[in-house]
Formats: sequence, C-alpha cells, structure tokens
Amino acid sequence: MAKTASALRIRRTVDEMRAVRRSLARPVAIVPTMGALHDGHGSLVRRARAECASVVVTIFVNPLQFGEGEDFERYPRALEKDIALLEDLGTDVVFAPGVTQMYPRPIETAIDPGPLARFFEGERRSGHFRGVTTVVAKLFNIVAPDRAYFGKKDAQQLAIIRRMTSDLNMPVDIVACPIVREADGLALSSRNAYLQPADRAAAPRLYGALRFIAERAGRDGSRGDIPRAIAEATAMLAPLRPDYLAVVDRQRFEPLDAVPADGELLAIGAAFAGATRLIDNVEFGAPGRPQL
Ligand code: AMP
Repeated sequence: MAKTASALRIRRTVDEMRAVRRSLARPVAIVPTMGALHDGHGSLVRRARAECASVVVTIFVNPLQFGEGEDFERYPRALEKDIALLEDLGTDVVFAPGVTQMYPRPIETAIDPGPLARFFEGERRSGHFRGVTTVVAKLFNIVAPDRAYFGKKDAQQLAIIRRMTSDLNMPVDIVACPIVREADGLALSSRNAYLQPADRAAAPRLYGALRFIAERAGRDGSRGDIPRAIAEATAMLAPLRPDYLAVVDRQRFEPLDAVPADGELLAIGAAFAGATRLIDNVEFGAPGRPQL
C-alpha cells in the first residue's frame, strides 16, 4: 500500500493515542515492542509499512511480564534512537506510554494464557505470558489495529497470541514475520547488548544446535529419535549452558518425544551465554511433507 508522506507522531498517553487513531487510514498496523530496536523490529515495521495504510509502533517495557529477579530495571532503553529509526522507516505513530499510563492502579483483571504457557518459557518465567497476553490485549484495545505484526523469534508468544485473539474473537489479524539473524546465525535480540565478547562468540551455537535437531528430526526415517538428537545437540552448546532444547508442534507447544507423521514443527531452545539468556527456534516440516 502506498505510503503518503506524513510526519511521525509520538503519543505518550492513552487518550492521545485514541485521539490520533481516529484520524488514521485503515488498515491500521500495530507493531508491539519493548524498544531498544534492532533490525528484527525493523523487519516487522517494514512489512507493516508495505501492507497497511497506517503503522503504529508501540514501545513499552511491560513490568507485568518480568518476573522477580529478572531484568526489568536494567532492560535496555533507547527511546530517542528508536524514534529516529522509526521515522526513517515511515512509521505514522509511536505510542510510548509510561508505566502509570498503562497501569494507573494495580491490575486486578488479566488474561490467562492457558495450556500453551505450561512449558518452556511459561514454565521458567512464571507469570511472563500472563503479562504478555494482558498487555497485548490492552494495546489492542487502545490502538484498535486491523493487523498486528509479531516476530517468529518468540514462537511460544506468537502461538499464545494467535490463540488469544481467536479464543476471544479479537478483530485483529496476526501476521508472523521471519527471524532476522546476524551473519553468524545469532538471532537479533535487544538482550544481545548484554553479551560480553566471549559470550557473543559462543552465542550462535544455540542456532547451530537447533538446526541440527531440525535436520535430524525432519529427516525421513528418523521418527522416534528426538531424545537422541537433543542429547547430541546439547553437547554442541558448550560453553553455552543449556536451559532446554525440544521439538514441538507450532500450535501446541508441548514437548514431543516422537516426530508425528504430519504437522508444522519447531526445534526450540534456550541457553545461557554468561548471565544472558538466549532463545531461538528453527521451523521444519514433519518427514513425509515438503519442507516449509
Ligand atoms: P521485543 O521488543 O523483544 O518485545 O520484541 C518485539 C517484537 O519483535 C516481537 O514480536 C518479537 O518477536 C520481534 N522480534 C524480536 N527479535 C526479532 C528478530 N530477531 N527477528 C524477528 N522478529 C523479532
């Protein structure tokens, strides 16, 4: 859709955001982010720009999705730089509310992310996905987008948000965008800024291990061999410290011990590089169906 040149507008309050929304041409895209933007975010904004008449990028470090002892306080914040980048990308509106705008009083109502949050990120980060579903629902209610752009980098989050919008009849199309990686395979992440040089050098091993699992599990005749592929991939991670490696169905996010005959599968994983926790995933088709 052709972009008509218009200046970037920055809105800091819910009322201001609602007011500007009324003037936006549809379809309206939302790209929810926590800021400290990199080219992964950039790819979402470019896609939204190409497909929608108006693009709203939200920047909000959501305290509700950080557990105790996690990095909420020290999560990277770079609002001025983010705004300059978003202006270059042709964003129409940046919605960057403060915490008291989003949570003027302690929240008592939240969205239960259900069984998709039972394992992996949901198991390790108690309350994380409840914070994500709740803030995304709030942002959808404030921005009233037609389409929402999310990265496949956070694959469990994507599955949960898809399910939430479907279960609750939210009138928003969810658009999933490919993972953007560094030349050596490391998935871009705002948290990569924490990596010390030695940890940065080791970080692409997670992607390597996931590709190994996807290749093994996706190969004809390897059905049932997931535990072995995971064991071998775990050994490939050092000096990264494994958190989990698993194969899941893209919609269900339950650990699979055997590759089903059909389905859209993911090798998913998390590992520590020093104190920084990395997550990543690799898509593959079940053997017997064409690679995706
Ligand atoms: P965050 O700011 O980390 O909450 O991420 C905001 C959005 O950007 C989410 O939908 C992420 O999945 C997406 N995203 C983050 N990193 C990447 C990446 N490397 N490639 C594609 N999308 C990404």
